[in-house]
Amino acid sequence: MKLQDKQIRMIVTAVAIIVIFIVLQLEVRSEREWMCAECGASRLQSRWFNLLDKDFRYRNSPLERWLLDHRLKHDHDWKLIIQSRKNILSKTLSSGYGDPPSIYLLRTDLMEDYLKTLTTGQIMDFYQRIRNSSPQERFDLFENALHSVLTEQ
Ligand SMILES: [Zn+2]
Repeated sequence: MKLQDKQIRMIVTAVAIIVIFIVLQLEVRSEREWMCAECGASRLQSRWFNLLDKDFRYRNSPLERWLLDHRLKHDHDWKLIIQSRKNILSKTLSSGYGDPPSIYLLRTDLMEDYLKTLTTGQIMDFYQRIRNSSPQERFDLFENALHSVLTEQ
């Protein structure tokens, strides 16, 4: 009788370990983050149990704020930059990275510093060049802006 109790306990423990192991492999939530290639705003979306979408973080950018302040219409051009799957403990099960748009070079603070060095007309010109340039020209534009910010400081 005593031996049976011990065997039952071992089986229950083994089953519990297997169940915990399986549960930890299950995707409970996925996260995806996008960045706008033209203004640098970003948004992080969480999806629970592959069903419920929830936008839980939106971060505008200095350029987007400037466009809004000047009542200029802007349609975001969202690019997926990070995607990850999380388990019940919010531990990452897998993740993938897309190519970030080149505006990523001028993340929030750097963009803010750069815009401060420009006049209204120059910011307008900067924005028009972002919108009308090829991927390589756009990369060069942001790289030059980054260089200008870093050498200012
Ligand atoms: Zn945008």
